[in-house]
Order: sequence, then structure tokens, then C-alpha cells
Amino acid sequence: MNPLLAFLKEVFAYNGDLWASFTAAFTAQSRILAHTPAILIYRAQPLQAATVRQLLYSTPHKVWGLTPMCGGPSCNSTAGSIRISITKRGDGNHHFAKYSCIKCKWESRYAARPRWLAEVPGRQFYFYHNFPLTLEQQKHVILAPETQVDQKAHKRARK
Ligand SMILES: [Zn+2]
Repeated sequence: MNPLLAFLKEVFAYNGDLWASFTAAFTAQSRILAHTPAILIYRAQPLQAATVRQLLYSTPHKVWGLTPMCGGPSCNSTAGSIRISITKRGDGNHHFAKYSCIKCKWESRYAARPRWLAEVPGRQFYFYHNFPLTLEQQKHVILAPETQVDQKAHKRARK
């Protein structure tokens, strides 16, 4: 079933929880979220501040569902110029990844999955975060500190 229809049916016909119904509907198949993230703006209770969440699907071309960007100084590459390497180390849920730019040859360190990115329980490679991201959050991989994965990669390279 179309995820939007499944979501609306769950909420309006069965009085389902908004966020739970949204994640259930949009994680039932990866096709839509692999193409584009989905955003839900809602109030859990009347008179409560609105919550804005973005639901994402992580792929080898768009790790954690985030748009990759180059950290090279004055490089004006687009997301399509960024190659992503995902290591199998960690928790198996795209725990570490790094970017490299084919245009300017810039390469990041292996960044750990950002802490502000929450996992959808029981759904591998599905994540969500409060929307919108700050500029610092958007540059997560660029600003990432050295990780244990980097240290192991350096040791291997020296051998
Ligand atoms: Zn670049």
C-alpha cells in the first residue's frame, strides 16, 4: 500500500500514534525513503509545541540518508562528486563512514554515525532527527574527529 495512505488510514481509522504510524508506514519498504527523506510536522498534544522530524533511509550512496558534501577549501562540487566508504566495523548499522571528493581529491576521516541521528527501533538503516539540521550538523562528516577506525586504517597502511 502507498505509505501515505497507510499512514492516514492508521491515524484516522484506527487512531494510531502519529509518529509510530508514520515510521511504520514509511519503513515498510525502502523504495521511497531511498529516493527522498520524509518529514512529519505534528503536535503530540494540543497546545504543545510542534515537533518536526525527518525520517531517513541510509544507503551506500547517501549514508544515514544525509546529503554528502565536500570539505575541500573552495571546492564547489555537488553531492554527486562525493564517494562514500562505509566500513563494516561497529554495530552493523552504518556505524562509520567517510567521504572522498572525485573533483578536488579531498578525503574525510571515518566519522561515527552522529549522536543526534536516532535509530528507528527494529529497522536497520532507518534513522530520524529533529529538522532542520544546523550547519554544524550538516558538516558532521567534514568536522568529524579521528575515530578508532581511522587509527586502525593508519596502522594497516604503515605495514
Ligand atoms: Zn571537493
